[in-house]
Amino acid sequence: MAKRRVRKNERMAEAPAAPPPRRRARWVVPVAIVCVAAGAAAAYRFVRPGRSVQRDPGLSVLLVTVDTLRADALGAYGQAGAATPWIDRLAREGVRFERAHAHNVVTLPSHANILSGRYPFGHGIRDNSGFRFPAGTPTLASILKAAGWRTGAFVSAFPLDSRFGLDEGFEAYDDRLGGREIRTAFLIPQRAGTATVDAALAWQGAHRAERTFTFVHVYEPHFPYDPPEPFATRFRGREYQGEVAAADAALERLLRPILEQGARSRTLVVFTADHGEGLGDHGELTHGIFAYESTLHVPLVLYAPGLLVPGVVKAPVRHVDLLPTILDALGIEPPADLPGRSLLPLASGDEKDVAPRSYFEALSPSLNQGWAPLHGLIDGALKLVDLPLPELYDLDADPGERRNLAATRAADLDRMNGLLATQRKADRGPERIPEDAATLEKLHALGYVAGGNAPKKERYTAEDDPKRLIDIDVRNRDVIRLYREGDIAAATALCEENIRRRPNMPMAYQHLAYLKRAQGDLPAAIAAARQAFEMQPLSAESVALYTVYLTEAGRAKEAADVLEPYMTAVKPDLDVLTSRGMALAALKRPAEALATFERGRQTDPSNPLVLVNMGTVYLMTGDRARAREAFEAALEIDPGVARAYNSLGVIAAQEGRMAEAVERWRRAVELDPRDYQTLFNLGVTLRGQGRSEDARPYLEAYLRAAPPALEARDIARVRGWLGASAGGRAAGS
Ligand SMILES: [Zn+2]
Repeated sequence: MAKRRVRKNERMAEAPAAPPPRRRARWVVPVAIVCVAAGAAAAYRFVRPGRSVQRDPGLSVLLVTVDTLRADALGAYGQAGAATPWIDRLAREGVRFERAHAHNVVTLPSHANILSGRYPFGHGIRDNSGFRFPAGTPTLASILKAAGWRTGAFVSAFPLDSRFGLDEGFEAYDDRLGGREIRTAFLIPQRAGTATVDAALAWQGAHRAERTFTFVHVYEPHFPYDPPEPFATRFRGREYQGEVAAADAALERLLRPILEQGARSRTLVVFTADHGEGLGDHGELTHGIFAYESTLHVPLVLYAPGLLVPGVVKAPVRHVDLLPTILDALGIEPPADLPGRSLLPLASGDEKDVAPRSYFEALSPSLNQGWAPLHGLIDGALKLVDLPLPELYDLDADPGERRNLAATRAADLDRMNGLLATQRKADRGPERIPEDAATLEKLHALGYVAGGNAPKKERYTAEDDPKRLIDIDVRNRDVIRLYREGDIAAATALCEENIRRRPNMPMAYQHLAYLKRAQGDLPAAIAAARQAFEMQPLSAESVALYTVYLTEAGRAKEAADVLEPYMTAVKPDLDVLTSRGMALAALKRPAEALATFERGRQTDPSNPLVLVNMGTVYLMTGDRARAREAFEAALEIDPGVARAYNSLGVIAAQEGRMAEAVERWRRAVELDPRDYQTLFNLGVTLRGQGRSEDARPYLEAYLRAAPPALEARDIARVRGWLGASAGGRAAGS
């Protein structure tokens, strides 16, 4: 941005020994990439001896999901050497389901299934981005809230951000991830399970005398695997298992009090995972590409000692059964049009093993990379995976899915295909909202996009089958690993290899754009981001990435123009609004920028980062009072937002309150130890005050964190200072 350069030049012109701190705030760039008949409840409570189905409308409900948790990673499901004592105890003292299935293999759609009791084509969310849960669709939260339960959700990662619509019906929806880690192509903002559990316990404490529905989501086992101590040491070489152990440990304070109350407990606990993890099965390292049992089979436990006798259920069950089960346990009639059924009869031993069909899908590779879409069905022991190269497995005889029966059991294949088609009768495909069509038309008319929609094919062939393309996904994981290890050149080479292997994958170009920017090659980053945008103009991620880089390169006018067609939407995407606000601010149109950010605030009122951006606009216009208000409002929503502290430090420095500036920046660095700009501000300020030894650790941290391509001059200068003082001591001795 022009302003940025001016500052830098001013600073460059001053005495090199002690330049003033970089007194500029930073943008927060989001992408661098039911109504119930409660009165009838009392009649349900009949307590008979034996194992008949019992219900209790006085119970609270605790729904716990652990992200990316394979069933067989838990001790309760046979993992030798697992350190999962709390989940295992819950399973032992509750009812454990041996064969529970998810319907999606990524986070947002799977949670939408769990909370709504609908299949993905029933609620419309088919991937982690580009979709929004339809307002007014009943969920556990809205049904229980209407029936008088207090409702609170505590989530740990960005895919469950309230902007995607799952917050409806929750009085409290806590998605405060601290803003410490800004979302990029390689990084999903998340918080530690312990922090999420703290927030849930605090909320429950405030509603102790009431019936509550608490939803807690813990994210630890998700890639990259980086377990905290003591699990890092204990599970060296088995880091995924270390993360699973950390998730269990995080849940202790939530589960222990309930378990210790035993029969006196007044809480129904439902424990599951949104999906599993490949860990190399069938060549899949993480999840989201295939739908083998490693990612589709999930743990499921119901715990309610007053209602359920401990036991194990072998019959197949599904995520869509959870909502009817929970409502049944509370004596509440579920909505009529749901595919699932209550599991209480099964859990009470009252029902013979029945095996309802279970639909599943994996559409992310299709939506983001143009691969063939994956749909499938489980019917009894048979599992159909509908792809250009179809797969049919007998899960009883072949639980590892090693023997594809598609070629040898043609009659079964036909029958399963027919059943799948029946299941999918209501599936209108991954549908964009109608206003997107208008946006696309305008983009065409303005000449911004040449081609058609996302790279969707009429007919997919064997060459589009994920089985033939899994090497690309493996390379993608390596790209992320290499990037995290700091080897950006090697990461870029692998990313380019993927593009040569299969052009037309928007995600690969997003990754390339991000890597090029990290190398300081903004023109190449813009070129790659433009490719992704052209292939996928309706993807908020693609357009936001492209336009953020344009603005960063001083081409804010182009960015604002490209973004203009998206502004006619009723609810434009938050990332798109943010990028447009940044472009307008760079064009010195602060009033329009603020109005755009204000729309973003209405889209997601609980988002502190929108307020940080509004504060940044005020700061640019010199309105420090309003800027301070905005930053403080951001901290009121989430006291973990490092960027707000950084900016408050900038204001203090501008007003000459250097002690306060140092204190604010120290807080920012505590929250985000890798924020090189704050490290620079802090180091330079302390040094300017003659406190070289205090400054040293911050300047050293700056050298470790600053990207060489973007910070070459300052890196050289800081090296000079640090070297000179060390050398000075040596020379003087
Ligand atoms: Zn997930």
